[in-house]
Amino acid sequence: MTIARVIVDVPSRETDRPFDYSVPDRLAPWTEIGSRVAVPFAGRTLQGIINGFAQESEVDVSRLKAVEDVLDALPPLTPELVELGGWISRRWLCPLIVALQVMLPSALKGRTEKYMALAEGVSEPDLTDESDAAIWNVFRQGKAVKWSALMQQFPDRGPLLKRWLKEGRLTERQQVEDRLSVKTVLTVFPPGEAELREMLAGIPARARKQREVLEYLIARPDPIAMADLAEAAGTTTSTVRALADRGALDIREVTEDRDPYEGRNFPASTPLQLTPAQHAAMNPIAGALKNREHRVFLLHGVTGSGKTEIYLQAIQQTLSQGREAIVLVPEIALTPQMVERFKSRFGERVAVLHSRLSHGERYDEWRKIREGRAQVAVGARSAVFAPFGNIGLIVIDEEHETSYKQEESPKYHARDVAVERARSHGAAVVLGSATPSLESYAAAHGDLSHGGEVRYISLPERVADRPLPAVHIVDMREELKMGNRAMFSRPLTDALRDRLEKREQTVLLLNRRGYATFVMCRSCGYTCTCPHCDISLTYHRGSQNLRCHYCGYAEAEPKVCPSCQSPHIRFFGTGTQKVEEALAAAFPGIRVIRMDVDTTSEKGSHEKWLTMFRNQEADVLLGTQMVAKGLDFPRVTLVGVLAADAALRLPDFRASERTFQLLTQVAGRAGRHELPGEVVVQTYDPEHISVASVQGHDYGGFVRHELAVRHALGYPPYGRLISLTFSHESVPMLISIGETFAKRMKERAHSLGIPSAAMPGDSEAMDVLGPVPSPIPRLKDRSRFQCMVKYRGTLDASALTAEVLRDMSDAVKRSGVQISVDVDPQMML
Ligand code: ADP
Ligand code: ZN
Ligand code: ZN
Repeated sequence: MTIARVIVDVPSRETDRPFDYSVPDRLAPWTEIGSRVAVPFAGRTLQGIINGFAQESEVDVSRLKAVEDVLDALPPLTPELVELGGWISRRWLCPLIVALQVMLPSALKGRTEKYMALAEGVSEPDLTDESDAAIWNVFRQGKAVKWSALMQQFPDRGPLLKRWLKEGRLTERQQVEDRLSVKTVLTVFPPGEAELREMLAGIPARARKQREVLEYLIARPDPIAMADLAEAAGTTTSTVRALADRGALDIREVTEDRDPYEGRNFPASTPLQLTPAQHAAMNPIAGALKNREHRVFLLHGVTGSGKTEIYLQAIQQTLSQGREAIVLVPEIALTPQMVERFKSRFGERVAVLHSRLSHGERYDEWRKIREGRAQVAVGARSAVFAPFGNIGLIVIDEEHETSYKQEESPKYHARDVAVERARSHGAAVVLGSATPSLESYAAAHGDLSHGGEVRYISLPERVADRPLPAVHIVDMREELKMGNRAMFSRPLTDALRDRLEKREQTVLLLNRRGYATFVMCRSCGYTCTCPHCDISLTYHRGSQNLRCHYCGYAEAEPKVCPSCQSPHIRFFGTGTQKVEEALAAAFPGIRVIRMDVDTTSEKGSHEKWLTMFRNQEADVLLGTQMVAKGLDFPRVTLVGVLAADAALRLPDFRASERTFQLLTQVAGRAGRHELPGEVVVQTYDPEHISVASVQGHDYGGFVRHELAVRHALGYPPYGRLISLTFSHESVPMLISIGETFAKRMKERAHSLGIPSAAMPGDSEAMDVLGPVPSPIPRLKDRSRFQCMVKYRGTLDASALTAEVLRDMSDAVKRSGVQISVDVDPQMML
């Protein structure tokens, strides 16, 4: 007997193991590793994924339950992806089913539907009530009826149905259902020409329309959508149906791919002649592809240096070897412009996956990949799971972007997944960025933390020597001293006015993240930081004090600035709407497009605003982070940044890196074409390395400084972190569980001989900080505390954490404390 080992769709630690089911003979040909199946589990029918087969089981084989159904003819996951799921679940500490589910298109994430039907051989009940009789009639037609549909139609008859169930008149069953089916089109399949002519002869002259349809088909005897045929023959679909009823035509449902880019024209493009710099960059990549070697490259090139052309040519080479390519782009940069560059080079071979597509569109694109009809997948984070079987290349553009880390479980990082997948395929990985993450940069310079060897490729110049824009840093403390309390500094006001006169465009970035959590002096720029962690202290409204959420240090909220005694401490910034009003007041008649979470929640709105701006229907594009990424407008000659340093104060050791990346990126929006660009950055902290380095476009200077800081404090890339958040209504309960965790971790480390203080130079060390209140100390009536495991070296702290949590699982369950674990967290909030 074949036994399938199934991972069932119950995302909990207790069920995180395979369950054995027998495979009935009729299903045996359809089951493979990666098949989606319906299985009975705890009295219900659930969806599961087969992750292996066995000949015997620990359970008494005669009592094994059977697989009820196989849900897809072609398994949605390949054995490689199932294996990858195991790796993800160990790496990021999540149940295996959660790691497998994230690889499925949302359309396939199973729901179970309850169905009811008449039991066999029952007699009619006493039907005095009219609506009782109506329901009975529904069932009498013999088909199973969907419970949800029934409840919609007869909302108040629940108790009656329950009674009938109890009396055995009805039976109930569960069925796993897909979120949607593929789109089908009624298609006409004409017989041969001779048959059509014969038919035509038999149709009376007065049935003129029917004759015209047949004549059309005689001229063009190909399958055609019924609606199209009716339109072409100048009639309606009922005429076509009438012919089908006569037996002349065959009408069948045919699945059709919805093309999300339908109606858009993608002019063909051909490879450009590479510049000498591009050529030098391309060489090592081409070499690895040619030899089918697994290699990771960091392609460091400023915006406009021609990275995308290199991706395109590397993909070309991959395809010519009969292999497949995946291109990851940050969600926000996945614009039609971006897609067009790939579609115009590779046409139909490109499938596009991103979250703005409907479930159906996404599913259709996914099927193109799974069924081998597409060889290039372009998409956001989860496209890293594109179900290809023979990958030659994975490109990650803007590899430093935080959106490559998923914030909910599984909290995977697409960069790490890409490298793991590429390893098993013997594929190359190209990480591209103008501001590489410090992790990738350090790995490429021999500072190995985690991950293997990375080869550094630099592309320092823009194509055609277009100059980088000039950057002016404006010190807002000086503006305040000069009596300017407005949002816009004098240099920015002048520059804006100049652009309005010349009818050129401006992008304004309001960097708002981080306000309201820190305390800053508006007179001198002073902010309060932890003396132990070099992290901004977080303002806690309830207790009115400042706390470090890494180590728990706390101090009273200052009333005047500790540095300059000014009372202008506690400045929390403004929102985009206020800026929009201020613009209208300062520049009467100015046309502003505001892009923030409020104005872009609707599907397609994001693109709509950008198209308007491109068509010069506005002078200013004002927005949050989303205006900084990947946009390319020829008429933009000015970029203004309103609060360059806000994100610097986030209580996150990556705050400097993020700020530098954001400022560099937004500066790159200016002067990308013929017109030269200018950037004005307003800040309270002009000397800060993140701000100052942007002025000289000095990535190297920034990175050297920042790496030294990270090294001294043992932060990534020189050490690693695992953060655990404990939440519960009761604070003492939290603290007790958190302390137990910290204590057990330290005991384990001690017994393994791992030193606790991460001293520079130690090859291996592990420390556990906390429990301390989380940066968001309360959420949905639950208090939150966190612990941070900080370690370095090759020790497997994930496995250690998993072990300790397993040992504690009974106590944790009894306490009701929820624990969420984030391995290699990107956002410390
Ligand atoms: P990046 O991806 O680094 O921002 P792109 O690949 O978008 O850079 O290139 C910037 C601009 O230069 C684009 O308009 C592109 O068409 C053009 N370009 C790139 N490579 C070449 C080349 N070899 N010859 C001519 N133009 C090029
Ligand atoms: Zn001050
Ligand atoms: Zn601290």
